[in-house]
Amino acid sequence: MDTGETEAAGLAAILDAQKRAFVDEGIPGRAARQAALARLKAAIRARKGDLIRAAAADFGRRAADETIILDLGPVVQSINHMRRHLRRWMRPERRPVPVTLWPGRARVIRQPKGVVGIMAPWNYPFGLSLLPLATALAAGNRAMLKPSELAPESARAMAAMLAGCFAPEEVAVATGGADVGAAFAALPFDHLVFTGSTEVGRKVMRAAAENLVPVTLELGGKSPVILGRDADFAKAARDIAWAKIANAGQTCIAPDYVLVHEDDAEAFVVRLTAALRRALPGGPGMTTIISDRHAARLRALAAEAEAGGAETVRIGGGGAGRQVAPALIIGAAASAGVMREEIFGPLLPVLACRDLSEAIARVGAGPRPLALYYYGGGEGRDAVLARTISGNVTVNGVMTHYAVESLPFGGIGASGIGAYHGREGFEAMSHARGVFLEPLRSLIPLGRPGGRFAKLFARYMMR
Ligand code: NAD
Repeated sequence: MDTGETEAAGLAAILDAQKRAFVDEGIPGRAARQAALARLKAAIRARKGDLIRAAAADFGRRAADETIILDLGPVVQSINHMRRHLRRWMRPERRPVPVTLWPGRARVIRQPKGVVGIMAPWNYPFGLSLLPLATALAAGNRAMLKPSELAPESARAMAAMLAGCFAPEEVAVATGGADVGAAFAALPFDHLVFTGSTEVGRKVMRAAAENLVPVTLELGGKSPVILGRDADFAKAARDIAWAKIANAGQTCIAPDYVLVHEDDAEAFVVRLTAALRRALPGGPGMTTIISDRHAARLRALAAEAEAGGAETVRIGGGGAGRQVAPALIIGAAASAGVMREEIFGPLLPVLACRDLSEAIARVGAGPRPLALYYYGGGEGRDAVLARTISGNVTVNGVMTHYAVESLPFGGIGASGIGAYHGREGFEAMSHARGVFLEPLRSLIPLGRPGGRFAKLFARYMMR
């Protein structure tokens, strides 16, 4: 019976075939990597319509523009960036040589690791699968991809697209749920990139450790927005409203909560409410929540915060089924679910602080966030940058760092390990191999053990 899922034994066979092909065919040169990236980009452009329809079917509703701008576009832009810089990244890098080893020559050569496993979540089913895939290909690897079972149509459309432009021993797609995910994570890849929740990330890293597979973990967390007193509040409200409505806030780097000075809080809530109203799309409305279970979780979080004394401002009605209306949650208790769990939806707690130090302390008290946003300049900005630790930061904006391909993207602590995008992605999926070309005649011969030269040399080594 074909369940549409890839069996565990099948996974191991695909990996074996990819590893064998990697050895047989050798390391791909720059032209082959450029061609692979070009093929991937052409396929995404050619299958754009299928991919948009598949994402809309998975979410229930998702505008084509949203899929293009937030899901497919970043992959195309990233491919363009990699293609532009590949020559420089692949160039062997000269390194200095200690005088005792002159005139030897040292180089770092970045070689592909081999086969990269890629595990992806459902929220950007294409971007979070294909951007790591493009990076793996740029670094000269082969790859196996395991998309999320919660976006099955997107997984199917992507698998069909990739089968059309890559042989299975170059790129293969495995489909299925947590059981397939667990079998996938247990495979002896040469590198594993996991994007998903912190909880599953822990399991994946444990499984990878069995085979000493190096991992890049792109996890979640609660990304705060801190508003300085000199913030451009109108821009902040506009940006935050956009980010909570885009993909219905189901974005790993979406603002998770806002910290604002107590004297600015009331006026900011008014501004933010108006901005959310304006940002709500007309017509069929915003993207729907991925499943009934996820929608119920969001409603339960809002209800719990309300029962605990928080004030809730709902925008655009209560919503029904998988349509969850955006809501501001004002003054939620630290113990409330909305302040403990990553929200991953259109709810937004707003918390008043006495001063910037209190805001910084609140961020520092929790696990390290995937992203941090600050509005304002001068000393406030410098203090936030110096005294907080997070994945990436955008100042006077939200989420836009994701589109800056020259920056590494990744979390720290509970929000992730390692980074990708741009050069850092290429390096994460390459092995930095140190090569030393020793001279046939060294400038400083070691000499006879115990001899005069050896004594001088020993003294030099300890200077
Ligand atoms: P998830 O962790 O539930 O699933 C991710 C992948 O792991 C899926 O392919 C799933 O099938 C697989 N999986 C599930 N259970 C597994 C198990 N026991 N063993 C092995 N694999 C298993 O995450 P999700 O709900 O799809 O995505 C939401 C989370 O992802 C949020 O926490 C979000 O912040 C995070 N995220 C992070 C980034 C980033 O770039 N850092 C981007 C998007 C989403």
